[in-house]
Amino acid sequence: MQLNSQSNRFEIAGVDALQIVEKYGTPLFVYDSAKIIAQYKRMTDALTVKQLRINYACKALTNITILKLLKDLGAGLDAVSYQEIKLGLEAGFAAQDIVYTPNSVSIEELEAAMKLGVKINIDNIEMLEYMGINHPKYAFCIRVNPHIMAGGNANISVGHIDSKFGISIHQMPLVERLVDTLKMNIEGVHMHTGSDILDVDVFLYASNILFNVARKFDDLKYIDFGSGFKVKYKPHGIETDIEQFGAEMSKRFNDFCAEMGKDLTLMFEPGKFLVSESGYFFARTNVIKQTTSTVFAGLDTGFNHLIRPMFYGAHHEIMNVSNPTGKPKIYTVVGYICETDTFGWNRKITELKEGDVLCFLNAGAYCFSMASNYNSRYRPAEVLIHEGQDYLIRKRETFEDLIRNQVNPEISFAEKETTMS
Ligand SMILES: *Cc1c(COP(=O)(O)O)cnc(C)c1O
Repeated sequence: MQLNSQSNRFEIAGVDALQIVEKYGTPLFVYDSAKIIAQYKRMTDALTVKQLRINYACKALTNITILKLLKDLGAGLDAVSYQEIKLGLEAGFAAQDIVYTPNSVSIEELEAAMKLGVKINIDNIEMLEYMGINHPKYAFCIRVNPHIMAGGNANISVGHIDSKFGISIHQMPLVERLVDTLKMNIEGVHMHTGSDILDVDVFLYASNILFNVARKFDDLKYIDFGSGFKVKYKPHGIETDIEQFGAEMSKRFNDFCAEMGKDLTLMFEPGKFLVSESGYFFARTNVIKQTTSTVFAGLDTGFNHLIRPMFYGAHHEIMNVSNPTGKPKIYTVVGYICETDTFGWNRKITELKEGDVLCFLNAGAYCFSMASNYNSRYRPAEVLIHEGQDYLIRKRETFEDLIRNQVNPEISFAEKETTMS
């Protein structure tokens, strides 16, 4: 979002932000396709290998139009549920371009996914053994846990020793024994060490562990290094240096292919990196409330629509779109949910009055996809800005949506009359 210095109004890819908000109402999610395209291109430019595949981790933002955009850019899809696979197919992805990376799902769900023909990532030894015995012909990928403690937050650091994800690197002898005995076709190895990796060296250290695993499988076609790419959440925040990372990673991967004597495919599965910064969340200020110690700005939204700040302390920049050049003041921004739902304490925002429109940045990843109907509120509409045009890509919910699946059986709860004799 940019301030147009002539009109003094904020614009998203050249489109007036307040006009979009007037047209569709608040609360509202708006996505800028140009940012997604630019992020995708940054990645593919940075990774200079013969065969590269970026599988978009769609749990970040599952709108079908966003999936189509990424498919048309050449991405594959990373799905973590049967339903995400179905969304991917709906968006037009070929089954073989979808990698299914589930954790703690039933054998029934895995087998249903296999019927659809997607790539399967195996996350535990028991499942590997079961698959080897029951589906000896299917090609599988193995998710390895290299036990690297990385990432900014314990909730999203999934590679360490106590993590529930993947097959421990220490269990590789058992994996090899199963694969050999059952003559399994292992076409890929995978790791996903966690979000918010800033230290390129830590990532490369973990990648060496995965290369060592990869050497053990003759049928190998791809190595999937997961994600962990950090984007800026604050103006002076730090992000993964994708260009430096890409250069070093590509060199190692190319060396590895030379060593193995074949061209493997290098895979990554970013979610946040591709879509976070493309998203803007707009809400209106219902009340300005001064207490003894604090000035609260109360919005027409809450953690039902944007839960990241309350759920894991995430920071989202907040700006007053209605008053771009006003004098800065300090506000604590809260939602309308009947539980404490603070979006940000003591935020410097240009002077606010009731009815002003606020915008949350970085609202593309894990925002709408985590939204709920808590407090029986409708989930917001979603709009895509593409080449100067705005497109509604999800309607705001209505009361019908709230009661659609409720069943109202004919039960009389009224007190029964007792017959007196
Ligand atoms: C969530 C997830 C990702 C994406 O993580 P980001 O931090 O959004 O890039 C990638 N791979 C797997 C297996 C995941 O579960």
